Parts: sequence; C-alpha cells; structure tokens
Amino acid sequence: MKKTLFVLSLLLSTIQVEAQEITTVDRPKLVVGIIVDQMRYDYLTRFYDRYSEDGFKRILREGYNFENAHFNYVPTVTAVGHASVYTGTTGSGHGIIANDWYDKYKGKMIYCVDDFDYQAVGTEKIYEQKSPKRLMATTVTDELRMSQNMGGKTIAIGLKDRSAVLPGGHTSNGSYWFVGKEEGSFITSSYYMESLPKWVNDFNKKQWPKKYMKNDWETLYPIKSYKASIADDNPYEGVFIGEEKPVFPHELKKLSEENGHFDLIKETPYGNSLLKEFAFAAIEGEELGKRDYTDFLAISFSSPDYIGHKYGPDSKEIEDTYLRLDLEVAELLSYLDKELGKGNYSLFLTADHAVVPVPAYLKSLKVPGGYFDYSKFREYLDNLTSEYYQVSHLVENVSNNQIFLNRAVLDSLKLDATVVAEKLSHEIINYNGIYRVVTAKTLQTTDFQSGILNYVQNGYNQKFSGDIMMVPNPGIISTYHENSGTTHGSGYAYDTHVPIMFFGKGFKSGRSKDYVEIIDIAPTISNLLQISFPNSATGKVLSDALR
Ligand code: ZN
Ligand code: ZN
Repeated sequence: MKKTLFVLSLLLSTIQVEAQEITTVDRPKLVVGIIVDQMRYDYLTRFYDRYSEDGFKRILREGYNFENAHFNYVPTVTAVGHASVYTGTTGSGHGIIANDWYDKYKGKMIYCVDDFDYQAVGTEKIYEQKSPKRLMATTVTDELRMSQNMGGKTIAIGLKDRSAVLPGGHTSNGSYWFVGKEEGSFITSSYYMESLPKWVNDFNKKQWPKKYMKNDWETLYPIKSYKASIADDNPYEGVFIGEEKPVFPHELKKLSEENGHFDLIKETPYGNSLLKEFAFAAIEGEELGKRDYTDFLAISFSSPDYIGHKYGPDSKEIEDTYLRLDLEVAELLSYLDKELGKGNYSLFLTADHAVVPVPAYLKSLKVPGGYFDYSKFREYLDNLTSEYYQVSHLVENVSNNQIFLNRAVLDSLKLDATVVAEKLSHEIINYNGIYRVVTAKTLQTTDFQSGILNYVQNGYNQKFSGDIMMVPNPGIISTYHENSGTTHGSGYAYDTHVPIMFFGKGFKSGRSKDYVEIIDIAPTISNLLQISFPNSATGKVLSDALR
C-alpha cells in the first residue's frame, strides 16, 4: 500500500512538473515578420562589403541564417509568397494560386484579395475592396491570436494590398496598404474596421510621401563606388515617363505628375523609408509588445519589387536600393531595441520570391534566356484544337502557365477532358521555349518528391487550377517585358532562392547550408511560440535555429 502511494505520488509530481513546463512558455512580447518583395539571396552577399554593421550584417551575426532556402512551388509571385510564408503551406493547400487567376467557375480572371462584400476605409477609391476570403488556411498570425483568446494583436502593413491582407490572416486587427495617385495615404478595408484608427489618420496627415518626393533619387554614395552592378546607362532597363535614359538622378518632383503622382514613391527606395516610418507609428499607436500578450507586426517592403521589375537585379538602382534598405533595417532594429528592449522580440526576414536577371542581358552574356509570346502560343493552341477536334475554342483560358479547357465545348463534342489534355500535352512539349508539360490527371495520381514537377504539384490546386500545366525553359519570361526590365514566377533557382533569417528572442546565432523551404517559417515561429500550427501547414520546424 505504502509502495503504491509512493509510486502514485511520484507519478503525480512528474505530471505536475510536465504541466508546469508546458504552461510556462517564455514568449517574446512581439514577433516581427519582414518580407522584402523580390529579395534574392545573393543580395546579402553581393553587396555585403558595403552594408553597415547594424542592419543585415547584424542579423547575420547575431541571428540564424539559412543560406539554401527556397520557394517550393510555382508560380513564385507576391500573393502566393506572402500566403505561403504565413500559412506554412503552398497554393495546393492555402488556395492562393497566383496574384490573378482564372476562376473556372465564374469564367473570368479574379484578383487574390478582391472582395466586393467589403468597402474601402480611409479613401475615396471605391475599387479598394479587399479581404482575405480566398485564403483557405489559417496563418501563424491567426493561430497566435486564437491561442491567446484573441488577446494579442496582429498588425500587417505593406505598400501592396495583398502584402498586408494575406500576412494578417483572417483575424488581423488591422491590415493597411498604400494608395498613391493624389492621396498618398495608408488605407484598409471594412473587413477589419469601420474607420481608420487615430494613429493611422495622424500618420496620413503628416504627408510623408510629399516630403520624400521633394528629393530626387540620387545614389547614397558616389556612383563610381558602385562596383556590384553594370553600367548605369544600359539597354536593359526601363525608364520613367519623361526620362530619356535609365540613369541617376531620377528627378522625382519633375516626374511625379506623369508617373501617377504618389504612386511614384513605390518605385523608389523612399517607399521603404515610408513603410519603416509607418511601422514605427503602428508600434507606438497600437502599443505593440507593451502588454501581457505576444503581438505580431507583419511588414512587407514592396518597393524593391517595383524597382527590380524596372531595372533588373544587376542595376545600379538595385545596388542603391539594398544599401539604403540595410540602413532602414538597422534603424528598425535599434528602434525595437529601444522600445521593447534587446532580446524581448523575435524577428524573421525573408522574401516572397526572387527574380531572374533581364533575359536580354543574359543573352548578351551568351547565357540562355529569352521571351515567350503568349498570344502567339494561344494562336498555336487554337490551331492545334482545330486540327484535332475541328473546333478552335476548346481552350478557354491560358494564364499562369496553365491551360483551362472549355467544359461546355468538351461536353457538346462528348470529349473527355483528361484524354484531350493528355493529347494536347504531347504536342505542346514540342513548342519552342516549353520545357515540361504535365496534366492535372498526372498531378492527381503521381506523387512527385523533388524537382520542378514537385514544385508544379505544390502549386497545383485540384479545385482551382487548370487542365494542363507548363514549365517554360530557364531564363524565359513573357514578351510583355521584352523592351526592358524583368520578372519572376518560375520554379528555377533564380526565382526560388531567398534569405530566411531568424533573429532575437529564442533564436541562436549561426548558419546552415541545408536545403530548407519557405513553408518552414510558419511552423518554426509556431514552435517558438508554442502555439498550434496553421491548420494546413506542411513545413517543418527549423530546429537548428531555435534555442
Ligand atoms: Zn512580390
Ligand atoms: Zn514582382
């Protein structure tokens, strides 16, 4: 009897100890998630020598750096990137399969965060009706709020609507984005609130964009010292309306009227400065990290994407953008140290995709690259179906490298979609510039474990995606960009390889060369916080980085 009691009390004390260990979670006061739109991994190394000690280098020194982190799906575009970082899954799981995609049920193109059940708040621009309704999964920001009985706050900010709406998840206290034109202010949606909080109104009243755009965009240091980029004047870059050459200085005051007024700030490094100031206002206005909960601030620096599209990754403009962004990051870290105390917050920094060098520039170096004419390809498809099935409109839509067949036409001809898709894909593979073609049927019945078809499969959503998926050759982008600039969207390393860095409370200092995926961020943050994983997460916890 005595012995049994002893065992029982021993058992009870173990249970108590375990329970205590589980309930005393030492969480940070604030988690800051930073997404730099279009940041390639090699920007960290390419410009390393010119970075300050307190920005990217500080995160590299004190935090944990994954040198071999990749997006693991196509298309690598902004909406899918932001959704995947925060849900820990890919388009197959969270349902955001592109920025815009063809809705085969409605028979039209739709935009990822449009929702006409809600109204714009803080602007007269009535088309700014947004919500996260198409995001099927929960985000790490949702799980954090739910785990604290909705006590903590989530604030999400970006220049682009999708870059604020998707990271904030379904339960954001406020997701804010920027409208340019003559307004130049941060706005939101009635999904979150009926009117802007005072701190946002106050921020808008200060007219920061106006102040920034009084300056021209000159290089931060003498342009001669910019050694990590090609000549400023080259044939591969875009120009602003009213500019003859893509060279410094870019005279913003002179250019603004013809280039969308305050929208112009988005295409300059001042867009990052503006967002940093807005982040400070959010921390102060919402008292983030100052209460008995863990709050989340999701920041998306969108300007590097606008600049990268126009000038490409080898430009002086990109070199200058990152030297300046480094200083903004340094300022953000020192602000967080001051407001919350060193070691009281946790932070990650990543991107939503990377980017390919301007294909015309690649060609000049004899590196494979070029342009794909989608309207010619569409003509080819219609000729193909005319030849095979005597009908020219069997293909309903081609977008995001997916082909949607017309169900009504198939039915009227008593054709089986899977048979037609298979037959067409055998032909399409011969088309110049196409590297792989795979049908929906194959993606539903085969489990691709690695490589480009694994990425296609991760991006494929059985409910929303097309009947045939295509992969163009490396270095190939749409002829839309043929005259200048570049874009992203592929599953090749130039689009998938991005930084993943963790910093602050709960993270070690160090680095890893192991292949990791973008969907690992949300599970890692969930584990740090000891909360439920986002409901559809498939990524893994990056335990090397955690203390
Ligand atoms: Zn992007
Ligand atoms: Zn982009």
